[in-house]
Amino acid sequence: EIPVRKICCIGAGYVGGPTCSVLALNCPDIQVTVVDRNELRINQWNSEKLPIYEPGLEEIVKQCRGKNLFFSTDMAPALKEADLIFISVNTPTKTFGLGKGRAADLKFVESCARLIAEVCDRSKIVVEKSTVPVRSAASIVNVLKANTKPGVSYQVLSNPEFLAEGTAVNDLKNPDRVLIGGEESEEGKKAISALSWVYRHWVSADKIIEMNTWLPMHFLPNESQALMPYPRFVRQPVPMSVKWPRPSGSIPVLDPKFLQASVGWGGSCFQKDILNLVYISESLNLTSVAAYWQQVIDMNEYQKSRFGERIVQSMFNTITDKRIAILGFAFKKNTGDTRESPAIHVAKHLLEEGAFLHIYDPKVEKAQILLDLDQLDEESGISIHTDPYEAAKGTHALVICTEWDQFITYDYQRMYDSMLKPAFVFDGRKILNHSALTKIGFHVETIGKRHGQSFQDHNWAGTNGI
Ligand code: NAD
Repeated sequence: EIPVRKICCIGAGYVGGPTCSVLALNCPDIQVTVVDRNELRINQWNSEKLPIYEPGLEEIVKQCRGKNLFFSTDMAPALKEADLIFISVNTPTKTFGLGKGRAADLKFVESCARLIAEVCDRSKIVVEKSTVPVRSAASIVNVLKANTKPGVSYQVLSNPEFLAEGTAVNDLKNPDRVLIGGEESEEGKKAISALSWVYRHWVSADKIIEMNTWLPMHFLPNESQALMPYPRFVRQPVPMSVKWPRPSGSIPVLDPKFLQASVGWGGSCFQKDILNLVYISESLNLTSVAAYWQQVIDMNEYQKSRFGERIVQSMFNTITDKRIAILGFAFKKNTGDTRESPAIHVAKHLLEEGAFLHIYDPKVEKAQILLDLDQLDEESGISIHTDPYEAAKGTHALVICTEWDQFITYDYQRMYDSMLKPAFVFDGRKILNHSALTKIGFHVETIGKRHGQSFQDHNWAGTNGI
């Protein structure tokens, strides 16, 4: 018997889209329908130009779309037909009320549970994929139970997503581990096996960790409970039963790739998840733990501001009416996502100081950059370019905000020749060859060290830069 024939995923975003594409590619025997209430997004998934950029994603979508991968705004029929439903909607930081500015807002997750209960007339497996605090699965169970139609039952599983934007396809094809939490009842185990069966189409069994939804928490003392309320932060989860496959060795979670010096981290997840840790720690009266995590946020804000200030200081303490090229606007390379991008912070700082900005990013759309900078058009000191050399032309400085690989190999001599002198480079990602740039004639400033001869030596004496 095939445990799962049809899957419906609510949420066609950075997680739902790539996850379901890789799933459809590897499971030709399963029909996957991704639904979203955002019509524009669904239209884009059904068009030539996908709503998100991820290396390798377009090829997969083109291969599977219309065969066993569908994108639709018609949620009810897709939910009704599905054997298994993924919830992968956004869980943003609350902007009002209790926990404002820190707690995760679970209203979208809850509305999915309500919709499922309303439309479904046979039993389903509901899989929580969004990043949520522990015990959220219980809330989904409660909402479903209170609204379930007669004869219908639900098994709720927790299956947090670990993909990173920019490498989503590769992360999904070759995951370090797949975590599946469920109830310890017979029905719960059956549901876990069904989801596990789906993953085993392309993931080896030793990487699939099955567990009771609550078990890891029982094993954690209070302090670490506050530090690790998300399954995605648990380094070595405890499998559900010794009979079930145990993962061998420990699972790498903190890789050196996460520890690069930069102008600051961004992205939709890290900031909101840490803010939520602050909130949960405070709710548990763990004041020192909350202060620790708040400090992580504060240091990131400080890093972004400091970079902007350093640009101004290095350019003789004024950038009013100066032209500055910003190379890179996405929060990291290989994505067009600008959510919480440090480039926004830096650009706003430079605009406030009166600079004119020439912005170039290989993947971010012009409209998105203007929206992020609260601008209606390009008139107010901003011009957006589709060519990096055009962006650099006539400027006083280049500011690297994203670590795009192509930035490393640009012809900087050509840029230098077209710029005003002295020409500056501010490398916010520490990716360029600074001695080569200095030889060309650039004044170079970067993160973590001071490379070139400073025009403001007295200001920087005794320091080592940012
Ligand atoms: P996203 O904003 O890109 O996508 C969420 C989608 O859900 C949106 O298109 C929205 O229209 C849709 N949606 C919201 N409520 C809905 C509803 N009631 N009915 C139908 N559609 C609805 O978000 P994302 O980046 O894909 O993140 C989703 C979840 O996954 C979040 O909890 C996030 O923390 C987590 N996560 C994200 C990443 C990442 O790298 N982006 C990685 C791991 C986990």
